[in-house]
Amino acid sequence: MNNLASTTAIILARPPMTQRRFVVLDRDGTIIVERQYLSSPDQVGLLPGAGAGLRAMRDLGLGLVIVTNQSAVGRGFFDMARLEEIHGRLRELLLIDGVELDGIYVCPHTPEDGCDCRKPLPGLLIQASRELGFDPAHALVIGDKPCDIELGQAVGATTLLVRTGYGAEHEAARSVMPDYVAEDLVEAAKFVPRWIASGTSGCRGEGNCE
Ligand SMILES: [Mg+2]
Ligand SMILES: [Zn+2]
Repeated sequence: MNNLASTTAIILARPPMTQRRFVVLDRDGTIIVERQYLSSPDQVGLLPGAGAGLRAMRDLGLGLVIVTNQSAVGRGFFDMARLEEIHGRLRELLLIDGVELDGIYVCPHTPEDGCDCRKPLPGLLIQASRELGFDPAHALVIGDKPCDIELGQAVGATTLLVRTGYGAEHEAARSVMPDYVAEDLVEAAKFVPRWIASGTSGCRGEGNCE
């Protein structure tokens, strides 16, 4: 009983959720050009419109956080220090477009590790929401693969598939059921005011809200 009591106390001591809403973004194929096991800062390239789209979301008052699976670390292809350099380059490129990220959360594990932070499992998104102070169910989760959409669905968030990266392929194969589909992050940003106005549940049941 003591354990239960102290757990409850910790939950109650947490500050209340703020009203600031967040966009949870995939990295490869969504913000930067997908490359298999990208391992050097020189290989980081923004997708066309990524900076402008994220800037538009930022200007609407939204927080921006990346949640990314990087099993190359767990496989030993490179270490976390190298990954930090890669993300330093990514932040540098985004800053040119006036975009600052609130955080980059990485699952470094392989599927065989059985962790709870590899997408589509929601461990990393839950951690980000606690540390940055947002409600996952009021977030917009954007990505190009089923694991991104399933991540959003696991926490009751609104989901958006971009057609960049593998997105168009998955849309054609109907392997995902996102709330929205957009060409890229610029078009995704155009859905945001409607998403904000619609409250928690996005436009489920109304096709792609077009
Ligand atoms: Mg991706
Ligand atoms: Zn993990």
